[in-house]
Amino acid sequence: MKVSDSIPSVLGLPEKFSRLSRRLLKLRLPLERRFTGRDILLCVLATVFLVLSSFKALSGLRLPLRIVSVLAAAVPLCLQALRLIKQRSFPAEETAYLLAAGLCALTRDSMSPALILIFADLLSIAEGYCLLHLDAAPDTLKDAKLPMRQGVERADPEKSPERRALASISFGFFVVFAAAALVPGICVFFHLENYVPWLRRCACFLTLASPSAVLFSSLLTHFGAVFSAAKADICFSDNSVPERFARCGIFVFSKTGTVTDGRFRITEVSPSGMSEQDLLRIAAIAECRSAHPIAEALRAAAGLDPASVPEEAISVKEIPGKGVSAFFSGHQIYVGNAGLLEEHSIWYATPEKSGSAVHVAVDGGWRGYVMISDEIREHAFEALEELRAQGASSVVMLTGDVRSAARRMASSLNFDMVKPELSPEEKASAVRYLRSVHGEKARIACVGDGVHDLEMFDASDVSVCLEPGKDAPQAMVTVDSEDILRIPLAYRICRETERTLFFTAVGLATAKLILAILGVACILTPAAAAGIDCALGVISVIWALTGLTLERRAGT
Ligand code: ADP
Ligand code: MG
Repeated sequence: MKVSDSIPSVLGLPEKFSRLSRRLLKLRLPLERRFTGRDILLCVLATVFLVLSSFKALSGLRLPLRIVSVLAAAVPLCLQALRLIKQRSFPAEETAYLLAAGLCALTRDSMSPALILIFADLLSIAEGYCLLHLDAAPDTLKDAKLPMRQGVERADPEKSPERRALASISFGFFVVFAAAALVPGICVFFHLENYVPWLRRCACFLTLASPSAVLFSSLLTHFGAVFSAAKADICFSDNSVPERFARCGIFVFSKTGTVTDGRFRITEVSPSGMSEQDLLRIAAIAECRSAHPIAEALRAAAGLDPASVPEEAISVKEIPGKGVSAFFSGHQIYVGNAGLLEEHSIWYATPEKSGSAVHVAVDGGWRGYVMISDEIREHAFEALEELRAQGASSVVMLTGDVRSAARRMASSLNFDMVKPELSPEEKASAVRYLRSVHGEKARIACVGDGVHDLEMFDASDVSVCLEPGKDAPQAMVTVDSEDILRIPLAYRICRETERTLFFTAVGLATAKLILAILGVACILTPAAAAGIDCALGVISVIWALTGLTLERRAGT
């Protein structure tokens, strides 16, 4: 049986469990995975010692009790040291706690080492509890699509590359405190007659050097963002995305299939020298290999099954942002916007009504146009307003469509700026231009439907793809849903994650600084410092766990 099968996780609790039994079961969890024989021995010995030391005052028991005390303090210490030596691994936090416990033993205070070791174990139990939740997480996504599950598996803190980066940061943190501990350590040699306070100061710094709370809560918080987003059908390509996305202040949207639903209606067919049916059929044949929403609409209008056009009978070239060029039955066909015909110096009549026209040209002669229009996607307005409410400073539309259609959309959706008639390369230049206007520090997220969006995505800091098209399966944020409100939801999850991380980091650093000052002033004993540090670690880890259900809070 997999560990995760036996986990009554907060992620997917079976309803039949009552609250109390859930709690009890959860408490048992860390035992299954993290409690080794060593841990149990350690805890038992330290507890025995604590109980015994409270009877210290009893007369007649003094000598045996003292022996037991020494053993109880020394055995766990030695066991822990042996284990670390055997594993040839010295995790910074355990080494720090172990050294602190050792120093306390030198002060002939036999209670502190036991307490410090108990706290070290409690902290590792809290971490084990989190790891269990992370193990169980992918299983709760059974119904989610494969990319979501893969994203969550990649984000597993035990495997993720981010872990290495964070581990080295927290090692740096450890080194700073350990170096600070050296100062009172050296002072011991100058105050040999009264060395105890100096040893205590040194031990205090060492217990505070444990970086596990910082390391764990930040790993968990990022994982929480990836996981809760996956539950809402949003896939982050890796766990650095939440941080990057949260920093984006400028949102660039392309129009077709993004803020519009991409389902084009044909409003007018205006042929020149042929029937409406023939014009539609020629356009549909030329569009038979394109995944663009316009192509789909033309094929549907002509009733053409793309499979009915044999591969060898046609050669098609897609011209992103303009249309298609096809060679069929010895004829050269162009289907696309005015820019495409101008590029090939083909004359065309400008439609009387404003709107998006798809022109058709055969063998260098204009054959008419098809007027099309698409509707604003449901909730697009709310989505843009929500992005602004979350902190987006500017929302811009870049589109390949004509000015009139772009203006109409932009004014009903309240975009801050709109640039029409852009090719994919021009969209990328516009993104770079936005960066130069808003300063190099401006972070830009580009949102597209994945059709001809690669250039724009490359120029962005974060690429967001609504309904993945075949061009852009590599977007950093992929929303696997028709619902445009998932974009502000993803943004909100990322912003909340960064806020949690910021408060955790500032809170922990401040608390540790205060504890260090109290330790130097000898107001705080090393055991108390370890206790408070452990409590802080547990609190920050529990707080980080709330990130696993962010999508529910962010969605309300
Ligand atoms: P957007 O920038 O709004 O997402 P696209 O870049 O996908 O739009 O397309 C821009 C314009 O290019 C369209 O409005 C259309 O005029 C033209 N176009 C692109 N692809 C095609 C196609 N396959 N058939 C006809 N026209 C096309
Ligand atoms: Mg597009």
